[in-house]
Amino acid sequence: MNSTSPRQTLAVCETYRKEIEALGLLSKYPDVSVLFFKGRCGMHPAKLKALKNTDIPGLPAGVTFTENPVDELHVAVGECIAEIPAKHHIIGGQSRFRIKHCLHLLISPDLADHYARMGYYTLTPGWLARWREIISGWGFDEQTVKPFFRQWSSGILLLDTGVDPAATENLKDFSDYIGLPWMAVPVGTDYFELLVINAILKIRIEDKPPPDESEINRSRKELADFLMALDLLNKLVRMRSEDEVIDGIREMCMMLFAPSSVHFTRTDDAQYEKRRKDPVSPDNGFTLSIDGGGGAIGELTIAGVAVPEHIDRYKKLAARISGICGLAIENARHYQSVKDLSNTDGLTGLANRRRLKEHLEKEWQRMARDGRPISLVMADIDHFKEYNDNYGHQAGDDVLQQVARTLKEQCHRPGDLVARYGGEEFILVLPETDGDGAMKLAEKIRRAVSGLRIEQGDHLPSLYLTASFGVSSAIPNPGSASDELVSQADSALYKAKQAGRNKVRRGIGQGIGGHP
Ligand code: GH3
Ligand code: MG
Ligand code: MG
Repeated sequence: MNSTSPRQTLAVCETYRKEIEALGLLSKYPDVSVLFFKGRCGMHPAKLKALKNTDIPGLPAGVTFTENPVDELHVAVGECIAEIPAKHHIIGGQSRFRIKHCLHLLISPDLADHYARMGYYTLTPGWLARWREIISGWGFDEQTVKPFFRQWSSGILLLDTGVDPAATENLKDFSDYIGLPWMAVPVGTDYFELLVINAILKIRIEDKPPPDESEINRSRKELADFLMALDLLNKLVRMRSEDEVIDGIREMCMMLFAPSSVHFTRTDDAQYEKRRKDPVSPDNGFTLSIDGGGGAIGELTIAGVAVPEHIDRYKKLAARISGICGLAIENARHYQSVKDLSNTDGLTGLANRRRLKEHLEKEWQRMARDGRPISLVMADIDHFKEYNDNYGHQAGDDVLQQVARTLKEQCHRPGDLVARYGGEEFILVLPETDGDGAMKLAEKIRRAVSGLRIEQGDHLPSLYLTASFGVSSAIPNPGSASDELVSQADSALYKAKQAGRNKVRRGIGQGIGGHP
């Protein structure tokens, strides 16, 4: 590092070491050197000088933070550096490349928030490689770490950049240790690469003007392309549906390359195989394969670009963004499946309690507004404990699935919802339905359940499995709570059990509205 050849030094949190190595930055940008510092995951950010790198092998000769700290530092990757001098640039920390959380180096902040809202504690391969060390650094042991993670999360999620073959094993080990389920999403390194290169180029132009004019221009163009791509890609990874993402990709190509046409062919499209076998290269354009972690997703055909002389530059940029396009599509698919999962009961496929609560509240408000009735039917299988004891849990599970199907078959108005409320308890939400209507439906279902002719122990009152039902209804008062309707259905169910089971009973409610 001498003053005649200006260098950029990229200071990188060690947990991102493998990702940086995968980018091959040194061969693309020979005047950039990289040094790694030990991250402070979960602890307060430290001053630059306090970050120790001396125990990390592979530092460029003569570089240590403590002795020759900041003069050559231009980009830092990570969030745990506080008080960077103004002239330095940092991805993460407190500068114009501000990143609030280092996960935002791998995915957009929106997506990170989304995973957090779904109850996931999100992790990187580099973090997982050091999980034992980090956890004990936080002062946890196996006993204390479990409640800590469970309090905040219902699962752990790996953003798999694909650089560490041991990442999934580490994930499983950590998941076993804290007793939470795990999931992995392939994210690749394209997003990371764009952020890093963006920072390098920006500094190159602003701080170290290259000596000759043409190089400045080249850098400027490259940077302009990157900035635009980064901005557009950020929008893409925020989109929630696959169609929206594909439209977004098309639009992005229009803006970046100004072509006369952009076409996306999905792998399940008949055209896709045809093109594979007999590729046609478009006039003044190119094709681009869009891949995700699970393989090819489709192909983009870009034709008739406005400035054909730039086609090589376009291709380079397109190749760089194709990975993120794939990631955005996979994210949208993944978003949908996480959303479905978080609303569905795993055994029966019915709505779960969370979805029930949401739906009931929404319909309750709607009926209050319209002055219309809403009813609930609560169902509970009779003597189900005995059934399990006699035939085993697996057989019990099969019965739950059968009963769930039966309930679903009987309920098909829009707005109706069948949910699993607990072990062998179900709730039907019936908007626009008065008490008499709900009683009739419950009676029909009661007959349908015994009509399944599921044999049970012959010492029970009925040869076949039965269920009991409690019905409640109201025209909701605006401002009253829907919980009361649930308690009324529950009391009615209790009466049905008292009356000898295999019965339907109706609740008498008060305080929540009129009685239809
Ligand atoms: P009652 O007629 O009073 O409702 O009696 P019951 O035995 O159905 O009610 P109880 O609440 O005593 O027991 C419910 C039983 O349901 C306990 C358990 O054996 C069974 N159960 C709950 N959840 C599941 C499940 O997910 N799978 C299976 N197989 N059985 C379950
Ligand atoms: Mg029960
Ligand atoms: Mg029961």
